[in-house]
Amino acid sequence: MIYTDTRDANAKVDFKTAVMNGMNSATGGLYVPVEFPKIEISKIMKDGKVDFVTAAFEMAKPYVEGEIPDADLLALIKDAYPFEPKLVKIDGSTYVLELSHGPTCAFKDFGARFMARAMSFFNKGENGKLHILVATSGDTGSAVGSAFHNVEGLDVTILYPEGKISPLQEKQLSTFTGNVRALKVKGTFDDCQKLVKTAFTDKDLRAKFRLSSANSINISRLLPQSFYYMYAALQAKYENSGKEIIVTVPSGNFGNLTSGLIAREMGAPITGFVAATNSNRTIPDWIATGDYKARPSVETYANAMDVGAPSNYERIAYMYSLAEVRGLFASYWLDNDGIIKAIKDCSDSTGYTIDPHGAVAYRAWEDIKAGALDKLENIDITKPGITPNKPAWADKAKEAVGVILETADPAKFSAIVKDAIGKEPAIPERLQKVMALPDRAIPMENDYNKFKDWLYMSL
Ligand SMILES: *Cc1c(COP(=O)(O)O)cnc(C)c1O
Repeated sequence: MIYTDTRDANAKVDFKTAVMNGMNSATGGLYVPVEFPKIEISKIMKDGKVDFVTAAFEMAKPYVEGEIPDADLLALIKDAYPFEPKLVKIDGSTYVLELSHGPTCAFKDFGARFMARAMSFFNKGENGKLHILVATSGDTGSAVGSAFHNVEGLDVTILYPEGKISPLQEKQLSTFTGNVRALKVKGTFDDCQKLVKTAFTDKDLRAKFRLSSANSINISRLLPQSFYYMYAALQAKYENSGKEIIVTVPSGNFGNLTSGLIAREMGAPITGFVAATNSNRTIPDWIATGDYKARPSVETYANAMDVGAPSNYERIAYMYSLAEVRGLFASYWLDNDGIIKAIKDCSDSTGYTIDPHGAVAYRAWEDIKAGALDKLENIDITKPGITPNKPAWADKAKEAVGVILETADPAKFSAIVKDAIGKEPAIPERLQKVMALPDRAIPMENDYNKFKDWLYMSL
């Protein structure tokens, strides 16, 4: 597969280059495959059941063709996914697609674990280890740390701002052993990012180490997220005699939703999407007004979606015109009060405990099912709710089957969930285990020379 970039149509690189470079540093653009080949459904669905590993293998194949042999790709996928997405029906026409069954209990495991193994594969011919440096404000770091843990040829250093992430997130970051370690930096997330960026431009360091990042804009994190859309859409379509399928995606950086678009291009039977955000409503406002305005992020209860300048906007705008986006997407945003109420309403009316991110999608889909797309006049876009945009599928919405993406286990946000429903959600065993591990984070001053000395001495 050839990959081009969102800012330079003449750019042409292979998968390895796209994965190892993360982005095109010459243009600042993001890599995108030049085509999205259609999948033969009969290869991945047998007797009304989709096999996730087979779906993943068939979908990944065209993107790595000629670079990762089939047997290696299959082994990579099996190693990446000892867990599966789960499609759970919560009412007559709604499914929750649980993406939280991986090691860190959030959907980022799907992308990060594939990326780690792809990097390890491409590093095999190289001399020595590849050092990954990541600055994190929380969720990404644990998915990346866990994904790279014990992966051959790779070595990971995670920098996080001490005291500025949740205690559970800190536990998830600070308890790795072996090839993954965390530095707790006396500073902010921006300070952590600056230390990492300075290291990347430091000629001494680059002469001594091979450095790479594990950025969320890496194409090898986006492609594998399309696997579960295919899985869920085919399964839901089959179980509901061919009804239209609408997928609602709680979004921040819009990587997850971009993966959904890729799955649809490849033949997943998805009629349309609902782009659902918290108070960071850059994309809903873009869809409403046609003006894209990045802005500073605001903190919310669905904090993994606190993004004011979503990087994957650039990929979406590269793949589709604004008119096409408006035809394909309904859009919706929800504030903190709405999140609490949605968690409660979901629990009261279906018995399902949903996390604050999934709750945004739940409310969006409930409102659309109840006819929100029929009442688009006089909408104030500065108030939570539906965006005044009528997608091409609006007339079919009430008869459609909804798939809501649940991006994290509610136990990761237990204080907020308890606020909403009066009791704490059950804690999965793998989270309990992490909470009992000793804290191994290494203290680090917010000082580049100290950081550099540490890298020299320790790696
Ligand atoms: C990262 C994250 C999101 C947002 O996903 P994007 O791909 O950035 O849109 C939503 N929910 C959870 C739990 C996350 O960790």
